Amino acid sequence: MKDVKSKPPALVGVIGQPIGHSLSPAIHNYWMRRHGIKGYYIPIEIARENLAEAIKALPKMNFRGVNITLPHKESILHSCDSVSDEAALMGAVNTLTISESGRIHGDNTDGFGFLESLTEGRPGWQADAAPILVLGAGGAARGIIHALIAAGAEEIHVANRTREKADSMRSDFGVRVMGHGMDSITKLVAKMGTVINTTSLGMTGKPPVLFPYASLKENTVVLDLVYTPLETEFIQQSRARNCITIDGLGMLLHQAAFSFNHWFNVKPEVTQSLRHSIVGE
Ligand code: NAP
Repeated sequence: MKDVKSKPPALVGVIGQPIGHSLSPAIHNYWMRRHGIKGYYIPIEIARENLAEAIKALPKMNFRGVNITLPHKESILHSCDSVSDEAALMGAVNTLTISESGRIHGDNTDGFGFLESLTEGRPGWQADAAPILVLGAGGAARGIIHALIAAGAEEIHVANRTREKADSMRSDFGVRVMGHGMDSITKLVAKMGTVINTTSLGMTGKPPVLFPYASLKENTVVLDLVYTPLETEFIQQSRARNCITIDGLGMLLHQAAFSFNHWFNVKPEVTQSLRHSIVGE
């Protein structure tokens, strides 16, 4: 009979390219230590052309699962034996879970993480209380729109630089979603209860979001997905107008908690002490 002590350490990780900047190893290794799980969460850099082969090797190396990040979130779908409804609808996978028999299941925890972060930052937040504005129509926006609709949102406006991508959200997600160009949102902003930046604007090295801050009404819930830096201009300007602001780290931590739960059947806590250990704030 196998002695429990002889079990090899649990292996999990994150696959992307580049991967050196990822905060996920620090988050998951923190939780593994806290929950007494012997194992490692490893950053793995894989080029597009090697992705399928690398994924096939994971069960043979006894990986329990991996997170998938840019640029592989869409192409990884072909390497999964099964995918969740969320991942299929988003067309993107950010978590693979590998069963004992070696089957690879793909899921997307971004939408769950987003909603947890939103309700943590604004307890009692209701999706149907007021119209919602989503800036951006990329992969992250898809996850968020899916989660908003599942939470009961009735009016979602999507504004994007490439207008056709915003319009295509209506074909994909239904008539509660309306597409706009980025330059036509000034009149909309004052009616919004929640505004979410899902573009990559505001990230270190990128220009800030061009946004009509003067039109924001007080107490609008404003969430930025960008977390490098945590204090984006979008967050600062919205706070200056007495909005309720939520930075991107909360979503990152909460979506990670869902992945951790898939692999270890433990829902870890997102605490101030974790935030502190990740970003030192
Ligand atoms: P993506 O699929 O590449 O989409 C990028 C979006 O940003 C598109 O809507 C794009 O508009 C827009 N954009 C990029 N450059 C622009 C510019 N110069 N002017 C106007 N719009 C511009 O990326 P993604 O996966 O959705 O990720 C978007 C952001 O969310 C990133 O910053 C990512 O780090 C962050 N994110 C955070 C979390 C979290 O847990 N906090 C999770 C997922 C993603 P076009 O369609 O016109 O190109």
